[in-house]
Amino acid sequence: MTAGRVTLVGAGPGDPELLTIKGLRALEQADVVVYDRLVSPAVLERIPAGARTIDVGKEASRHPVPQHRINQILAEEAQKGHNVVRLKGGDPFVFGRGGEELEHLARQGVDFREIPGVTSAIAAAAYGGIPVTHRDYASSLHIITGHAREGEPLRIDFEALVRTRGTLVFLMGVTAMPAIVAGLLAAGMDGATPAAMVENGTLPGQRRCAAALESLPERAAATGIRSPALLVVGGVCALAEELCWFDRLPLRGKRILVTRPRDRAGTLTGRLRELGAEVTSWPCVETAPILPCPAMEATLEDLSAYQWLAFTSPAGVDAFWQGLRSLGRDARHLAPLRLAAVGPATARALSGHGLEADLVPERCDGAHLGEALAAAGGRVLLLRAEEGAPGIAEALARHGAAFDDIPVYRTVCNTARSQELRRELEEGRFDFIAFTSASTVRGLMAALGPDADFSRTLGLCIGEQTAGEARRHGIPVRVAERASMDALTELAINLTNGGI
Ligand code: SAH
Repeated sequence: MTAGRVTLVGAGPGDPELLTIKGLRALEQADVVVYDRLVSPAVLERIPAGARTIDVGKEASRHPVPQHRINQILAEEAQKGHNVVRLKGGDPFVFGRGGEELEHLARQGVDFREIPGVTSAIAAAAYGGIPVTHRDYASSLHIITGHAREGEPLRIDFEALVRTRGTLVFLMGVTAMPAIVAGLLAAGMDGATPAAMVENGTLPGQRRCAAALESLPERAAATGIRSPALLVVGGVCALAEELCWFDRLPLRGKRILVTRPRDRAGTLTGRLRELGAEVTSWPCVETAPILPCPAMEATLEDLSAYQWLAFTSPAGVDAFWQGLRSLGRDARHLAPLRLAAVGPATARALSGHGLEADLVPERCDGAHLGEALAAAGGRVLLLRAEEGAPGIAEALARHGAAFDDIPVYRTVCNTARSQELRRELEEGRFDFIAFTSASTVRGLMAALGPDADFSRTLGLCIGEQTAGEARRHGIPVRVAERASMDALTELAINLTNGGI
């Protein structure tokens, strides 16, 4: 048996992209992941499918797993030979009890390492437009816990803190904030000192509340600031109005459901998140190549009958490539043929295999691809989804073009979490649903059932075919100007700005 190990990983403050590269790599290699409440769902999404997860998070309504039990779980799992990742919000050693956990492991003789994380003490302030130090305002930074033991007063030396004249960042200080403010004022801090609270820092739901120290308790109560939040006190807070870049992102506050298959969701979800949207990624369909694929194998034996290979999606390209490789063939086998792609993403998928598309229609949909191919002349081998839309085949047939239509992959419907999604739709939880193909519309409907409530949500569709499918199911839609992820993103921005 190989010896197990515990890697203590800082998951960052919330924005999943603030997880370090080293932390991500450790996570991807984990057998067991033990995580806390403050670890963001998008980071948890990166846990490999085969890994076991243990939630030891503390939630007000549930009893937390006591610290000594967490220590035991970590040691036991490692002693069983597992590669254990202990994921903690922010940095594990900044009020994260990381030190205590490692002490226990050290005593038990368990191998361990630690990967620091981006602490909320700095990052939540930064996303709130507050640089924690600045030559004009503060030359020191102090991170303080605002948590008092049950029934005990805060044990903070306020005089000492006031004397530092540095930036003060209080964690776990939402409940104690009025007492902290009173303590600072009593210790002689000027009531006009700029102060702020940043709630859910670095997350799409981030809120900031800024005020002079003496009026912060009232202002924060009016805003309803809740945990997790930072309290920041010091001159640097005055910069927030000018530097709050996060609040100015174009899709800030928008909640978007992305239904792309998991392997293709990356670029769209990443772009939308970068623009400030809160993205829920729910791949309602997954694509699976049809392997073995006798129909494709038979045509690959003799491609001389064809002049064109036509692809209508990156998934089709990948499935075809896998099929080709499984027969021991490579790109040279395709040399005499010309290649057609429905749009830029499909063309990119081809060039990923060293193949350049000879034809991409002006309007990126099946009907226009069919017309363009018919105009070019020659027999077409169409390689696409089992349940592909009829547009291209109809166009080819209408123009008298000869073709064979071979399914090389199929889409499989994902029903996990569908009840929850139905409820969230009813509650108006999503401003937009992004649809990138007619099959994602069908997949969503298959998972949710025909009576799902779309009255409070707008479908953003990549093209007319997708929009047609959505309309058929009673989903209100808007259509992107071009069939590309960029155009879909632009549509979301225009709608957010009230431009459409
Ligand atoms: N180890 C963590 C801190 C754990 S203590 C870190 O380095 O970030 C928990 C406290 O951290 C919360 O009470 C809150 O004060 C702060 N916190 C954590 N995540 C936060 C976030 N996204 N926004 C604001 N404060 C956060």
